[in-house]
Amino acid sequence: MTKQCMAGACEAPAAGMGRFCENHKRAFRRHGHPLQTGVKVPEVKPYIKRVQARIKSNAANPTWSLLAARWESMADISRTYVAQMHNGAAFNRYEARAHQASLNLANNVATKDIIEMVLGFYLLREEQGRRFQSAYFTPSWTRISRQAGQAFHTKLDTDFTASWTAISRQAGQ
Ligand SMILES: [Zn+2]
Repeated sequence: MTKQCMAGACEAPAAGMGRFCENHKRAFRRHGHPLQTGVKVPEVKPYIKRVQARIKSNAANPTWSLLAARWESMADISRTYVAQMHNGAAFNRYEARAHQASLNLANNVATKDIIEMVLGFYLLREEQGRRFQSAYFTPSWTRISRQAGQAFHTKLDTDFTASWTAISRQAGQ
């Protein structure tokens, strides 16, 4: 007898030996929860606009340059890690994947855009708490970096999907 998917009221059969059907299994892998859906640009865009307005009206606030310095020093750590890896140093594959994703992001997207986007996501999460299945969702760097270039080039008009992933869970898989 086929088992039923355990996500919400889903009546689809569970895939293989797993707990979820194909769709919910994919959502769990991508977002850390079977019922979580991706955040699309039109949804986060108004929050990014609010962040931009806030930065503009508080330009002298040290927070913005502190965040920029913080992000750039993180990117430097990733740059060093990846360089050492290419020189044959031992590495952990989950760490390596995370550092490579941060580095791709740092190389392709302006610091200012990254800060505005992340603050926009956090504002969205803060105000739309029920939109998220867990309190621990954070933007997935891999997914953002894969699609951010395209999204930012079109001034966020593209319907790109940035996913929210429970990083700790993903790293443990
Ligand atoms: Zn299902």
